[in-house]
Amino acid sequence: MGKTSSCVYLVGAGPGDPELLTRKAYRVLQNADAVVYDRLVSQEIVDIVPPGCTRIFVGKASGNHTLPQDEINELLVKLARTNHSVVRLKGGDPYIFGRGSEEAMHLSRHQVCFEIIPGITAAAGISASTGIPLTHRGLATGVRFVTGHGKGDEELDLDWRSLADGSTTLVIYMGLAKLPELSRRLIAAGLSPDTPAAAVANGTTAKQRQCVSTLEQLPLALKDIDFTPPVLCLIGRVVSLAHELNWQGLTYENLGLETLDAKVSA
Ligand code: SAH
Repeated sequence: MGKTSSCVYLVGAGPGDPELLTRKAYRVLQNADAVVYDRLVSQEIVDIVPPGCTRIFVGKASGNHTLPQDEINELLVKLARTNHSVVRLKGGDPYIFGRGSEEAMHLSRHQVCFEIIPGITAAAGISASTGIPLTHRGLATGVRFVTGHGKGDEELDLDWRSLADGSTTLVIYMGLAKLPELSRRLIAAGLSPDTPAAAVANGTTAKQRQCVSTLEQLPLALKDIDFTPPVLCLIGRVVSLAHELNWQGLTYENLGLETLDAKVSA
C-alpha cells in the first residue's frame, strides 16, 4: 500500500492483562524498531519490546493528552521514514474510542503503509473477568458501547431516548466523571432506576476493583470508594448475573446490593 517498505502497526494491547494480547500483536511487538504507547498500556506489555527498540510514551489518558493528537499523527509519519517497523500500541482495541482511525487516516494521507491489529476491548475483557455477560437470552438482546467523555461542565450530547432501552446492555467508556449525569439523564429518559449497574476499575489487572449497584445508586456508591481510572461502567439487566457468574470469587464493593439480590432471586 505504501511507497516505503516500512510499516506502522496500529496495535490493540487489550485491557491490561498481557496474556490477553493476540499472537499477532505479540509477534509485531517483538520485532518492533520503535513503539509509541500511551497510559492505558500496561508496563508488562511495553516490556515485551526488544531492548534496542525506541520507546516513546505519549501519555494519553482520557482528557489529558501529554502530546496533542496531531503531533502523535506527525510522529508516526516521521518514525515510519526512519524505522522499518513502527508499533503504535493502544489500550483495548485501536478502533474503539482509541482515535486509531484518525491516526490511520493521517498515515493513509501521507502514503505510509499501515496495518491494524485488533485488541480485546475493555468491554469484552471486563465482561470475562467479572463474569458479567454482555448479552444473555431474556436479559439483553444487544449491547451498545457509548462514550461518556465530555468536556468540563458541558452536558453530554447523547441520544438519551434511544439509550434508555432496558433490553440493551450499555457499556460506558470514559464515563466516570460524568456518571451522575449519565445516571440522571437515563432515568429521566425512562430507564428504571433499579436497573443493575456496575463499575470496574483497572479491569483484568491485579488492581481490578468492581462495584455492583443500581443505575440510581452507582454514582453515590462510587463516591465512597476510591476508584482510580480507567473505569468502565456496565448498565443493564445482565449485571444481575454478576454474583452467580463470579468465577474468580471477586469481592464486590456495593451499595444497593440487597435490592439487587432480591431481584436476581425473584
Ligand atoms: N480503545 C480502548 C478504549 C479507550 S477509551 C478499548 O478498546 O478498550 C478509555 C476508556 O476505556 C477508559 O476511560 C475506560 O472507560 C475504558 N478502559 C480501558 N481499559 C480499561 C480497564 N483495564 N479497566 C477499566 N476500564 C478500561
